[in-house]
Amino acid sequence: MSERLTIAIQKKGRLADESFSLLRKSGLHFTIPRGGLLARVTNMPVDLLLVRDDDIPSFVASSASDIGIVGENVLAEAAHSATSPFDASIALRLGFSRCKLCLAGLENGEIKSINNLENTTIATSYPGILNHFLRENKITASTVEMKGAVELAPSIGIAQSICDLVSSGATLEANGLSAFATIFHSEAVLVGSSRPLSADKQACLDRLVRRFAGVIQSAETKYIMMNAPKAQLAEITRLLPGSDAPTVIPLAGNEDLVAVQAVCTETVFWETLEDLKALGARAILVLPIEKMMS
Ligand code: ATP
Ligand code: ZN
Repeated sequence: MSERLTIAIQKKGRLADESFSLLRKSGLHFTIPRGGLLARVTNMPVDLLLVRDDDIPSFVASSASDIGIVGENVLAEAAHSATSPFDASIALRLGFSRCKLCLAGLENGEIKSINNLENTTIATSYPGILNHFLRENKITASTVEMKGAVELAPSIGIAQSICDLVSSGATLEANGLSAFATIFHSEAVLVGSSRPLSADKQACLDRLVRRFAGVIQSAETKYIMMNAPKAQLAEITRLLPGSDAPTVIPLAGNEDLVAVQAVCTETVFWETLEDLKALGARAILVLPIEKMMS
């Protein structure tokens, strides 16, 4: 029997649902137990470890898990705060749970840019990333670590500014704060280590990484079909996003029109369809692609 590859994923939270969804779209069958720590994949030699996101980088680094899915912010924080060499790094960017780590101050306060940070105190849950940023920018400031409710720090006088995760900015606004700098861009990532895996596990991992990459790519990729005037073919081809050589098929009994079909690897916007129509394209269809392997 082959050894089972372990993947650490967030049990509950902002990463959990999309992590489960990526694994399911990649063909893994499993059910999440109510209270348990482990979910067995029934159709591949894979076990899912269901944990808090903060534990994932160290699980991978310490070989408690072979790989993991975690926010790049949490991985970077773990790497910056590690006291000994840290063997966990990005194996694949996964494109979901995008957010950024921003510096923010009170809307009507005195801190409006990083130039105002000198000799002030900044509250954050990410002291590792923040101190790295301060060192790189030669700013002398104190940091105070808070595990949650960081956005309250300026109004209760713990710090003059904060460094916190932002996606829409609504939480900042609700607390009378405004962001003045972004210090880190994050998305969910697959984390691995440099430890060699057994041949079975490595084969399983390679297979999973290929499938994950296919799922991520097919989310944006669309198949586009239309009838187009032969005379406009060059212009029409130029408009197809992320596609260089469409398939062109003659239409029976029609000298002027051809059927054009192409795989578009970038987002197809309504504006593109309107531009195609303006060039004389008709019966334009955009179809989703369920799976792809290139
Ligand atoms: P846990 O209980 O596992 O420790 P948590 O409360 O620390 O969870 P979540 O709030 O679930 O963490 O966020 C997990 C990750 O999701 C963050 O580290 C970040 O990468 C990403 N994330 C955080 N906020 C947002 C957001 N507003 N939009 C999208 N992704 C986000
Ligand atoms: Zn957490």
